[in-house]
Amino acid sequence: MKLSTSYFYTLREDVKDEDSVSSNLLVRAGYIKKSSSGIYMMLPLGWRVIQKINAVIRDEMDKTGCQELLMPALIPEEVYIASGRRASFGHDMFTLKDRKGMDYCLGPTHEELFAIAANMKIHSYKDMPFSLYQFETKFRDEPRPRYGLIRVREFIMKDAYTFDKDEAGMDVAYGKQFQAYKNIFDRLHVRYRIVRADTGVMGGLLSEEFQAITPLGEDILVLCDDCDFASNIEVCPCVTRDPGTREAEEERQLVATPDSRTIAEVVETLHKPEQKFVKTLIYKVDEQVIAVMVRGDREVNETKLRKLFQAEHVELADAQTVQKVTHAEVGFAGPIGIDCPVYLDNEVQYLQNFVVGANKTGYHYTNVNLKDFTVAGMADLRNIQEGDPCPVCGRPVHFAHGIEVGNVFKLGTKYSKALNLQYLDQNNQLQYVWMGSYGIGPARTMAAIVEQNADENGISWPLGLAPYDAAIVVISTRDETQMQIAEKLYDTLTAAGFDLILDDRDERPGVKFKDMDLIGMPFRITVGRGAKDGRVEWKPRGGESEELAVDDVLARIREVYQK
Ligand SMILES: [Zn+2]
Repeated sequence: MKLSTSYFYTLREDVKDEDSVSSNLLVRAGYIKKSSSGIYMMLPLGWRVIQKINAVIRDEMDKTGCQELLMPALIPEEVYIASGRRASFGHDMFTLKDRKGMDYCLGPTHEELFAIAANMKIHSYKDMPFSLYQFETKFRDEPRPRYGLIRVREFIMKDAYTFDKDEAGMDVAYGKQFQAYKNIFDRLHVRYRIVRADTGVMGGLLSEEFQAITPLGEDILVLCDDCDFASNIEVCPCVTRDPGTREAEEERQLVATPDSRTIAEVVETLHKPEQKFVKTLIYKVDEQVIAVMVRGDREVNETKLRKLFQAEHVELADAQTVQKVTHAEVGFAGPIGIDCPVYLDNEVQYLQNFVVGANKTGYHYTNVNLKDFTVAGMADLRNIQEGDPCPVCGRPVHFAHGIEVGNVFKLGTKYSKALNLQYLDQNNQLQYVWMGSYGIGPARTMAAIVEQNADENGISWPLGLAPYDAAIVVISTRDETQMQIAEKLYDTLTAAGFDLILDDRDERPGVKFKDMDLIGMPFRITVGRGAKDGRVEWKPRGGESEELAVDDVLARIREVYQK
């Protein structure tokens, strides 16, 4: 690419409405441009990187025997109604009508269509296993698009689906895809952890996420260094130990706590530690209203709550509902006399003489014990905290942040049952097909790589991922010798199979150097004063420069790229 005749630009200043390192750098370096909230143009430099990422993904998918195809993005809404997922997606799904008034949606994920396609091929147990994949644009109307390419509303996804006759077959297919995903992220030089995750709107039996470790990450990962346990906090079990000792139960007291609604305020008013408080939170679980109690220094885990009730939606109840069940203003909810069932986090069973809201505006109870109220149920309903025991080995866990770049699911028979995907087994009996689904977001992966590999000068691509292998920078484009040598080098290296930038713009050298660092060119070949003596400068990004004879440049680039 010769810059003087190419689409190429950079921005000097940070971009105001970009809220992550990666989106700011990718926009400044001219890789992407925001089109509207959560929707981006993929400009030539960005598209080159995406294609490199896609080539690695495609190679690994093909190696597993997975076959590529392409599904439509525009899908009749009834397909998702049939699978029962229309309700789960809710407002996240973009919908529209065609001219005849028929309801369509823009596909958020494609399990249904793949099941329909599989139905064409599957008749008997002999018709499996097989697997299919695609690179396809997905649409999700995210409530809060943010962090550039990390939480978007339109994005390309590589999604794959496996079809097997039984659970053992699905496990084998899952294992192959899992290994392919490891190969992909290893080859892309992503620093990642594989964690257990919530199956969420996908449903099914098991989900594991490939999480790129970055400070920005939206997900909290629970990690144990002693036994390799790794989990998304959403599904991380909490170990509750019986402390063995009990305090003597004291007499319950109603105490005035005017203007103290939050735990912090009540702690201050009553001079007791947070652990002596039990929070009562009112939730709407689908249509049911319930109260959940956790120790004052803990948080309710809404994923666990949703699973306990096998519900679609869990949300904190609105003020009106809280007032209705507690007969008090928000901030004074407690288990005694409340008009809804009360569920406890496991830990609360071992507490004595704790403080709760009194369901009376301006009051709390102290010295409350379990005998004082009715419990509808008890379960692990809290978030694990740093330093809590690892659910496997008991040593303290620590947290990291991650960006989910890949996700693998054992779907089981959820979709085949919903969409009637069956086959005849050896005994001529109808059985349901076992499915797996597997997704990678190439653009989100690019953003995660930038988050992991940025410095004060711009993007620092891992070897092989930059849009071009090296940049030839001409110091003075008016100098004929310099231009001749630069052009000759460009032709020689291009003919040898390398992708080059030739910076032949009429700009100051400082501007060109800054631009090449910003866009993350891994090597810079500077053609300047030494050109008349057949010498150029070779400089790795962020490294020391050295002089090379023009004729030695090809050997050097072959050496660094090993090709
Ligand atoms: Zn452990």
